[in-house]
Amino acid sequence: MSDPIIYLDNNATTRVAPEVFQAMAPFLTEEYANPSSVYPFAGPAASAIDTARQQMASLLGCQSEEVIFTSCGSESDNAALRSAIKTQNGRRNIVTTCVEHPAILNTCRDLAEYAGAHIDYLSVDSHGRIDLDEAKALITEDTALVSIMFANNEIGNIYPIRELSQMAHAKGALFHTDAVQAIGKIPVDLTNDLKDVDFLSLSGHKFHAPKGIGVLYRRNFAPFTAYLTGGHQEKMQRAGTENVASIAGLGVAAELAAKHIQEENTRVKALRDRLQEGLLATCPDAMVNGDIEHRLPNTLNICFKYIEGESILLRLWDRARVCASSGSACTTGSLEPSHVLRAMGLDYKALHGTVRLSLSRYNTDKDVDTVLEVLPPIIRNLRDLSPFGRD
Ligand code: PLP
Repeated sequence: MSDPIIYLDNNATTRVAPEVFQAMAPFLTEEYANPSSVYPFAGPAASAIDTARQQMASLLGCQSEEVIFTSCGSESDNAALRSAIKTQNGRRNIVTTCVEHPAILNTCRDLAEYAGAHIDYLSVDSHGRIDLDEAKALITEDTALVSIMFANNEIGNIYPIRELSQMAHAKGALFHTDAVQAIGKIPVDLTNDLKDVDFLSLSGHKFHAPKGIGVLYRRNFAPFTAYLTGGHQEKMQRAGTENVASIAGLGVAAELAAKHIQEENTRVKALRDRLQEGLLATCPDAMVNGDIEHRLPNTLNICFKYIEGESILLRLWDRARVCASSGSACTTGSLEPSHVLRAMGLDYKALHGTVRLSLSRYNTDKDVDTVLEVLPPIIRNLRDLSPFGRD
C-alpha cells in the first residue's frame, strides 16, 4: 500500500468532513424533491434549507434572512460587486486592493470595461499590509463599493475590516468583504465589530463542505439587485433550484467550524508555527512572506531563494506524497509569478522559490515531522542544481 497523502493545501480546498457527507446523503438519494414543490414529499428538502440557513447565520452572528445561498465564492463576489454598480445612484468607483483573489480582480476589470466603473487599487507594503490613510484618501463621494478581502489566500494576511467598513460608510459607500479564506479559520462575528459590513462572501469547500456551494451575506436592507435572475428562489435574490444536498452539508460544516475554531487557533496554529520554525532553522536563505503578526493560523508562505517552487512541490510529492502550492500559477504554459508576491515587491530570486503550506484540523504532528525531515534535503539538493546562482 502506498503512503498516505500529507495534505497541506487547505487554502486551495479541504476534505469534506464525514459529518457533512452524512448530512448530504439523504438529499442525493431518497429525498430528491424540489424544495419549492407543494406536496409533503418536498418538506424535508425545504426544511433542510431552513436549518442550514440558521446554522450559517449562527456562525456569522447574523439573521437567517441575511444568508443567500450561491454556487461558490466567485459567484458571491460577482453578485456583490455587480449589484453595487447598479444600485448606488450613479456612483462609479470601486475601491479594492491589488492582492484580491481573481474573483474580485477580474470582475473589477470587467466592470471597468463594460459598465463604466472606475477602480482604485490599494497598494501593499513588503509584508502585504495595506495603509489605512491611503484607503481614506481613495474612498470618495463617488465610491459605490469598498471591497477588501478578510484574509489573503496566499500569504494569510488578515486585513482591518472593521476600520475599512466604517470608512466606507462614512462616505456613503457600501462595504463588501471576500471572507472565503477567513471562515472556519478565525472568528467572524457580524453582530458587533463588523456591523458596517454590508456584504460578505464565503465558500463551503474552504471549510470542509463540498465544492460548488457558497453564501452571500447581505445585511438587511442593504441595496441589492440579483446577479442571477430567473425564478423566485432565495426571495428573488438568487435564481436557480437550490443545491439541497450541498446546502445541508454547508449548514453542518458551519456548526463544525464554530466547534473547532478554538482548535484552529491553538493546535493547528502550533503545527504551523513548528513547521515555520523548523524550516527557518534548517534551511538557509529562507524567509516567511506576509504579516507574521496578523495572519491566518493555518497558513505558511515561505520562500527559499535561488530555486523554483514547482521543483520543490514535485519532489515533496515524490518523496512523501505531500500536497502544497507554489507562489506561481502556471498559465498557458508559462510560469507567472503570483500577483500578490509581485505587489509586495519580492525580488525574482525569492518570488520563484515560494511555497504555500496550509493546514487544517485533519493535520497531525506526524505530517509536520515528515515535512521537516524531507524538505530541507530537497532544498539543499535543488540549490546545488540551481541555475539562479547566489547574490
Ligand atoms: N476568494 C478567495 C480569497 C479565494 O481564496 C477563493 C478560492 O480560492 C475564492 C474567492 C473563490 O472561491 P470559489 O472557489 O468557491 O469560487
